[in-house]
Amino acid sequence: MSSERKIRQDGKVVHLDPRGATSPLPIAPATSSELGATLCRELLSARSMGQSAQLLVFRISNYHLLVDTFGPEFGTAAETALLKQLRGLLRRREPAQRIQPGEFGIVGRGIRSEAALKAMADRIVKGGTGRYEINGVPCRLKLEIGAAACPSDSDQPEELLHFARFALRELGDSADSCRSFSRQDLNRRKAMFRMEAEMEKALEEQRFVLQYQPQFAVSTGAVSGMEALVRLERSDGSRVSPAEFIPIAEDNGFIVRLGYWIIREACQQLARWRQAGLSVPRISLNVSPRQLLDARLLEVTEAAAAETGLSMTDLEFEITERCMLEQSDEVAGTLTALRQRGVRLAIDDFGTGYSSFAYLAWQPMDIVKLDRSFLARVGEDDRTDAVIQGMVSMARQLGLGLVAEGVENEQQANFLRAVGCDVAQGFALAHPQDPEAITQLLIESERP
Ligand code: C2E
Ligand code: MG
Ligand code: MG
Repeated sequence: MSSERKIRQDGKVVHLDPRGATSPLPIAPATSSELGATLCRELLSARSMGQSAQLLVFRISNYHLLVDTFGPEFGTAAETALLKQLRGLLRRREPAQRIQPGEFGIVGRGIRSEAALKAMADRIVKGGTGRYEINGVPCRLKLEIGAAACPSDSDQPEELLHFARFALRELGDSADSCRSFSRQDLNRRKAMFRMEAEMEKALEEQRFVLQYQPQFAVSTGAVSGMEALVRLERSDGSRVSPAEFIPIAEDNGFIVRLGYWIIREACQQLARWRQAGLSVPRISLNVSPRQLLDARLLEVTEAAAAETGLSMTDLEFEITERCMLEQSDEVAGTLTALRQRGVRLAIDDFGTGYSSFAYLAWQPMDIVKLDRSFLARVGEDDRTDAVIQGMVSMARQLGLGLVAEGVENEQQANFLRAVGCDVAQGFALAHPQDPEAITQLLIESERP
């Protein structure tokens, strides 16, 4: 039996000996650095010449699947076929080097812009991804790339390799084929881990607090609702904004547990105000898409309302357009069930992101909260004024309530009054405040 293996690529057959002696590109021997001598030399030389460079690490994304299916020899043959395919596409001074099975590195010198990096990555991905016939087996190889910049992210080859692999991991199942990873990303990642731990501890130590921001009926000035806004209180008394921790809590699923605490706490607070004889028609809670996917949401909400003597009609859930965008049958089912039980549903921050008027026509909606970016431009350009005016009449036509967010000055408040907007919320009327301060505000607002 011949010791030769055949690689057929784009109709051409290449004969190889199993030691790879005829492999189309030399494979660098491993050195003490995992990156290999050639790539290290390239990076260090760029660094010493004061040139910026990118380490691009690319791998065959289905490599391990192929090797598990067809055996290790297949893997070696696939690597060789790939390098041969790329040879014509890469410049002489950018030789691809094997780092580990199915993974290669290349140094792009003088790449300073995102666009230049993308162009080089595209060249490799498009050049290498495609149909091959390896050892008589037709298959498809798919490439993906992780990149890190030298010296801006690091001037240490090992660290650059670490960053580039991090980028590859971050690619995950996304449709993208190239991603970079910087020191900033690493710091963000570290902060995220710290925040995850801090949130767990804060829940245990009851250091989450709710502030409340009243909503006012534009025509009468009466308090028509109250939005609960969560903060994390540090042991030194400082408070962390939800903008810092909610996205992380949404990402790791912590928002579900935190959300249940928020629902119970807000219900208890509303009950306290009611017991004190203060009028708060309802309480609004921000609800993340992840919470709507949790099967217990309805049950926990009903229990929280029942335990505090409230009705489900005392509650309003604010969901973002993103939630509608990611809408699944499950989410739609939960929203419909909540609404059937009496919970009012509001679209928060309407007008940002992927606004779709179709959401407004969606049956289970009750209220639209117009994003504060619209109000911020009131009086500055006629077109924004016309959009808000249009929103007011559209909401009316659809039988939806309209809440204008971010009222920061008298001019905006007057404008809302003039166009007949129902409800307003914003710093000019009241900031989000601790429950005790809101109690005072309610007492004063009810004084004849
Ligand atoms: P949001 O639901 O749109 O809340 C309104 C945000 O705008 C609040 O910021 C509020 O303090 C701020 N705001 C109110 N009036 C004005 C104004 O006149 N001018 C300006 N510039 N800002 C105003 P906050 O409390 O930092 O909350 C930010 C976001 O965090 C919320 O946006 C919401 O998406 C999220 N969030 C807050 N609490 C919760 C919660 O309990 N659960 C969930 N899932 N998300 C929450
Ligand atoms: Mg909100
Ligand atoms: Mg909002």
